[in-house]
Amino acid sequence: MGMETLLYAVAATVLGLLVGSFLNVVIHRTPRGENIAWPGSHCPHCGEKLRWYHNVPLLSWMTLGGKCAFCHERISLRYPLIEGINALLWLIIFLKIGPHASFFFVAATFSALLALSAIDFEYYAVPDSVNFFALGTAILAAATNAWESGSWQILWNSLLNTALAAGGLWLLGWLVGKATKKEAMGGADVIVAGTMAALLGLPGFFVALFVAAILAIGPSLMAKDTMVPFVPFLALGTLIVYLFDEPIFQALESYIYG
Ligand SMILES: [Zn+2]
Repeated sequence: MGMETLLYAVAATVLGLLVGSFLNVVIHRTPRGENIAWPGSHCPHCGEKLRWYHNVPLLSWMTLGGKCAFCHERISLRYPLIEGINALLWLIIFLKIGPHASFFFVAATFSALLALSAIDFEYYAVPDSVNFFALGTAILAAATNAWESGSWQILWNSLLNTALAAGGLWLLGWLVGKATKKEAMGGADVIVAGTMAALLGLPGFFVALFVAAILAIGPSLMAKDTMVPFVPFLALGTLIVYLFDEPIFQALESYIYG
């Protein structure tokens, strides 16, 4: 790795930390219907306004011992966890894509999927605002790719894949719903499917769906009666297929064609 690439990688990681800090605001406020830009960060327990040095990703949580500086109420482990995971996400996505403009849109898509996963995990909700943001940045990633490579076919394919995956899943949900007289698939899943297809293409979308289902089996069996949020598994499946597309498709090809 050259010096320049190393510097870019460090910058991507630091940016990922800062975005992760913002994701915590999104995760806390969006399910409550609160504005994500205003007011500034405050302790959810005592409402005291945080100073800038209470707001440094990872470091503040550690130096404060995971407690509010004012009321000493415990601050959820989710805060440093989301910051750390998002920093790692931005680093590995940078290492995968390299210094291209599409990096920002792909990283933003995975950050939105991370926020969506955390919200689904904590509140069993999938807010449309974050969901559509992820779809938008995934399509912008394809548009940037198309622009950088001078082939608008890339954008057209991505839009087509999005429509096919979202439409296909919607139709499937409608049919299963008709057959079982229960709502099988929410509109939120359909949008997530569109995001996945925009990023991965159609074969990749199906592989990611399959990986997500496999990953969800264990937790679903353990949870028994309680609901298992599915978005975190979809996001994880998408990340795995995005990062390991080449070995996965090589393995599939050699399996199918011998
Ligand atoms: Zn407090």
